[in-house]
Amino acid sequence: MTAPKPSSLAMVPFVSVANMMKLVHHIGIEPMLRDLGDYIEADFKRWALFDKTPRVASHSRDGVIELMPTSDGEVYGFKYVNGHPKNTRAGLQTVTAFGLLATVDTGYPVLLSEMTVLTAMRTAATSAMVARHLAPKGARTMAMIGNGAQSEFQALAMKAICGIDRLRLYDNDPAATAKAMRNLRGMGLELTACTSAEDAILGADVITTCTADKQYATILTDNMVGSGVHINAIGGDCPGKTELHRDILARSSVFVEYTPQTRIEGEIQQMNPDFPVTEMWQVISGAAPGRTSARQITLFDGVGFAIEDFSALRYVRDRVARSGHYEMLDMIADPDDPRDLFGMVQRAAGPAVAA
Ligand code: NAD
Repeated sequence: MTAPKPSSLAMVPFVSVANMMKLVHHIGIEPMLRDLGDYIEADFKRWALFDKTPRVASHSRDGVIELMPTSDGEVYGFKYVNGHPKNTRAGLQTVTAFGLLATVDTGYPVLLSEMTVLTAMRTAATSAMVARHLAPKGARTMAMIGNGAQSEFQALAMKAICGIDRLRLYDNDPAATAKAMRNLRGMGLELTACTSAEDAILGADVITTCTADKQYATILTDNMVGSGVHINAIGGDCPGKTELHRDILARSSVFVEYTPQTRIEGEIQQMNPDFPVTEMWQVISGAAPGRTSARQITLFDGVGFAIEDFSALRYVRDRVARSGHYEMLDMIADPDDPRDLFGMVQRAAGPAVAA
């Protein structure tokens, strides 16, 4: 890994929102989505190396705050992320995040980064990387249900990684669809605004559900879903927050990130605890089959897993040094004598005033 060169280990490279946006434009949105997909896939291939745990969630009436830690034995990472569907009504985002990487040998942080933009990028890259393994051959049309903050990223990743070039958009708030149509104009996608979820999925090879509502919602019912499609269900990611009718799950081959977390948070929370699922790392490493027939419904029950954030931070760490889009933060106390922390604080008061 090429890391930004700190002048001292106490100074930690920090990627602000402004710098993350500069980095995205420096690399290009679609190339960066492709790179992130490759980094995530590479880390899924070395799945066994990682510490894995369902994320630590603090639930409240209106949302959830979560910590997502993991380590590959050399580098440790975590993300802080929230999910508050009601936030948009107050002009705030549903999902915000920041994250950190540290070296395991000293425990010192080596990168602190905004992760609100990066989460949208990594979620989209994960969806598309998974769809590359599961979507029907020659898929060109995607239905995008839920046209909020994540949606344009999802659409562009599916274009960049899977070759989707037709997008059918639906949101129960037409202003959200109008916003996504505006943002995606001229980006190589044929766009159609739809008036219902049923309308949106007409002719779609891939169906992405990316809505936010803290309830057992039924964005799709069983009779709406024909054979052979790939469903990328990413909006249901919390206990009591799902998007699909359970009968769809019963007819589908379901693929997940990390089963113990998805059983708590994903669409499969509606099913028995022994409902069969395949973890995506198994498909990626060749240990389990992905799509096995043209008529099969494949369903990615994506909730977002710590290794994807680790991969995204690893990518930022590798790319940000050359771009210069970071600043150094005075984040770790650095006394000359490591055991004289108190003396360092005392000296910061300045020369003592003579009595
Ligand atoms: P957002 O609030 O910006 O957008 C959600 C959109 O869904 C809104 O435009 C809303 O009008 C629409 N919507 C709500 N109910 C609907 C319905 N019944 N039919 C059609 N549209 C409906 O949220 P966002 O940041 O885009 O996130 C979307 C969801 O994805 C959230 O639930 C979030 O928690 C989840 N998420 C998952 C991952 C992951 O890794 N799986 C990562 C990030 C976000």
